[in-house]
Amino acid sequence: MVKILDGKKVRDERKAKLTELVSLFNDTPTLVILQVGSRADSTAYIEQKKKFGAEIGVAVEVRQFPEDVQESDLIDAIEEANKDTSTHGIIVQLPLPDRLDTSSVIEAIEPNKDVDGLTAVNVKKLQAGDGSGFTPATAKGIGSLLDAYDIDLAGKRVVVVGRSALVGKPTASVMLVRDATVTIAHSKTTDLAQVTRQADVLIVATGRPKLIGAEHVREGQTVIDVGINLNTGESLEEEIALQTGSGKKFIGDVDFEAVEGIVSAISPVPGGVGPMTVLSLFENCIKAYQKQVEER
Ligand code: NAD
Repeated sequence: MVKILDGKKVRDERKAKLTELVSLFNDTPTLVILQVGSRADSTAYIEQKKKFGAEIGVAVEVRQFPEDVQESDLIDAIEEANKDTSTHGIIVQLPLPDRLDTSSVIEAIEPNKDVDGLTAVNVKKLQAGDGSGFTPATAKGIGSLLDAYDIDLAGKRVVVVGRSALVGKPTASVMLVRDATVTIAHSKTTDLAQVTRQADVLIVATGRPKLIGAEHVREGQTVIDVGINLNTGESLEEEIALQTGSGKKFIGDVDFEAVEGIVSAISPVPGGVGPMTVLSLFENCIKAYQKQVEER
C-alpha cells in the first residue's frame, strides 16, 4: 500500500504549536503582501495566507497596486515597509506583469524581511547551508514534509523536475544541503523517464498536469507532487466527474492513479505540498519577527 504524505495533517499539528508560540509574543507579527493587478490565482493564494495568518495570530496586510503601476512606486512601497518596525515580513505576490523587472523589485526587499527567501542574500545563504537566512516556502515545506515522515535524504538520489527560481532551484538547494545527490531535470531534458526512474525521491514542479506517469517511476520511490493545476476535465471520465461534483478541482503534475500502485510514498494534490508551503511561509515570518525583536 502506498503511503500518503499528508501535508494537511502535518500542517495542522504544527499550526497548533505556532499559535501557542505567537500567543506568547508582545507584539503581533505582521506580514505585508504587495499585489500588482488582480490575477484570480494570486488573489486566491493571498486569501489562503490571510486565513492562515488570522488563525495563528499573524497580521496579514495586503497592499494593492494597479496593473500599470510604475516600478519605482512599487519599490518606494517596499522601502517604506523595510523601514516600518511594525512590519516583519514582506512578500511580492508573483508573477508580476512582464513589463516589470521582478528581480529589481525583489532585491528592494530588506533581506531580514524577505520571508519568501528570494533576494540574492538569502539565495546565497541557502546555497551555503547558512540557516540564518530564509528558505523559499515551497522548498522548505517539502523538506519539512519529508522530515515528518522520517524520509532520510543523506546519500539518496533526488531528482527535481523543474528549475524555476521560486520552486525547482531552491528545492534542489535544500536537498543538496541535506546531503542528497541531486539531479535537476527540465523542459529540455531528453528521456525524462530514464532520469526520473533513477530517483529515490522524485520531486515534480512543472505546472504540466499529469506529466509524470507509470513509465517515469519505479518501486520504492517517494514522489512529491508540487504541481497545482486547474483540472480542465480533459478525459471523458474527468469531465463527467467534474460535472457530477465528484471530480477534483485541482490536479498535480503526477498522474496519481497511474503511479500509486508502483511507488512507496506520494504527496497528494490537493493536501500535500500546498498546506506545507503556507505553513512554511508563516514559520519564516515568525522567525523574522523573532530576529527583529532580538536585534532591537
Ligand atoms: P514555472 O513555470 O516557473 O517552471 C516550470 C518548470 O518546469 C520549468 O523550469 C520548466 O523547465 C519545467 N518543465 C516544463 N515542462 C516540462 C516538461 N515537459 N518536462 C520537464 N520539465 C518541464 O513554474 P513554478 O513556479 O516552478 O511552478 C511549478 C508548479 O508548481 C505549478 O503547477 C505551480 O502552480 C506549482 N506550485 C505549487 C506550490 C505549492 O505550494 N504546492 C507553490 C508554487 C508553485
